[in-house]
Amino acid sequence: MFETGVRQLRMAVSMIRSSRLDVANIGRLVQDALDTIGEFGESPDAAMVTDGPFADPAVRTEFQNRAVRRTAERLGCLSPFYRERFGAVGVQPARLSVDTLGQVPTTVKRDLVERPADFRCAGVQPVLTTRTTGSTGRPAEVLLSRYELELWPAITALSGVLRQEILPTDQMQVHVSSRATAAVYLDMALCRLVGAGCRVLGIVPPEQALASLTDGPTLLSTYPSYLAQLVLTAQDLGLKPADFTLRRIDVGGEVLSEALSAAAQVTFGVPRVADNFGMTEVLPVSGRRCAAGHVHHDPSVGLVEVLDLAGTGPAGPGELGTAIITPYYPYRECMPVFRYDTRDVVRPLPDGPLGCELAGVPATSAILGKASQLLWMGGRPVTPRDLVEAYESLPTRPWPARFAAEVRDGRIRLTVPQAAVDGYGHRAAAAHLADRGLEVDLAVLPDEQAATLRLLRCDLRETTFAEPALAGT
Ligand SMILES: [Zn+2]
Repeated sequence: MFETGVRQLRMAVSMIRSSRLDVANIGRLVQDALDTIGEFGESPDAAMVTDGPFADPAVRTEFQNRAVRRTAERLGCLSPFYRERFGAVGVQPARLSVDTLGQVPTTVKRDLVERPADFRCAGVQPVLTTRTTGSTGRPAEVLLSRYELELWPAITALSGVLRQEILPTDQMQVHVSSRATAAVYLDMALCRLVGAGCRVLGIVPPEQALASLTDGPTLLSTYPSYLAQLVLTAQDLGLKPADFTLRRIDVGGEVLSEALSAAAQVTFGVPRVADNFGMTEVLPVSGRRCAAGHVHHDPSVGLVEVLDLAGTGPAGPGELGTAIITPYYPYRECMPVFRYDTRDVVRPLPDGPLGCELAGVPATSAILGKASQLLWMGGRPVTPRDLVEAYESLPTRPWPARFAAEVRDGRIRLTVPQAAVDGYGHRAAAAHLADRGLEVDLAVLPDEQAATLRLLRCDLRETTFAEPALAGT
């Protein structure tokens, strides 16, 4: 344990200094944690490495100011985009602080799409190109260095092992698009570092995924929309929790509804579905949902601000805002972004202590959807999460949520496939949605046209030569 203490101290020192982290050292910390679990059956205090010093607001602010300055100073020297941007608004990176950060305009996806070369830092060799797979507009291309690709899974492995979310006895089955190269690589590298098994299958027919899920995996990593297809297919095939060995399901990239989460828990026999925030452009900053439904962002690797939707200033508690994320150096080096506007809508939480299990880590509300998909009823916003939560709670289980919503003459017109109301009734469905705060005019389309209503990540289907195998055969 003495050795572990020295390594943790070294890591803490290098987080405060402006130097790169020693990846091998983090790898040894992972091994130390695994050895401790093997010997004593429990992990060292996870909070010490991940959350510890940041619970004190004064310490946190001091850390954030240093990290912002360190990151901006490096970008001012090495990134053509930010050298120009800081110069244009007369910002001196060495004087920036969390309070004066608003002087730097936010970076938007269009900047990355139109000027990718200008984001590349001088002297850093890229080794992996990855593209965003979101359904909103042209993909952005992000280049990553070898150091980044070694560092990020090492950090994830350390916190995962300390929380016992992944152990050498685990086997992870991965259903994310195989074109999401960074996400796939990070899952594989995480498993390799921990010594866990890894099976990357991509977005294949759900029957194939289930045949494999009944053959040993303990961890499942996917998107909410694909999880919905797995749940419905498992139920159609009559599969029960005893047919699976899963202990944990992780999803991200889309809105996970309460209804789907509850059904997945029952179908696969897992205690909860972990709903994570992650986005290619701002890696390795990530967020995790707590039991109270907040999203908590690890404050050691980046800064999360919430600006009002017009971008004029910070959003107040309870107001809708967009999450602005700055990954810090030395966690990002090849093509970093600074004050990146994710357009992911959240509400800041009221000031005061949070009562949840992650209370020491800064948090916002859950992600409510993309800003471009908000509907306005007079002055009242209806978020994509409002729509998905209400719609996916229908007794017809119309999963994953395929609908189109628009405002017409001051009312929401919700177009849904026939299957969403089949056997339940048009009027009952409208009343069900109204009970959940969603007064809508329902329009119904033939099921064959459903796929065009709303694009989802489960649509990134990959073909295989194998015939769909029946699970359990
Ligand atoms: Zn919380």
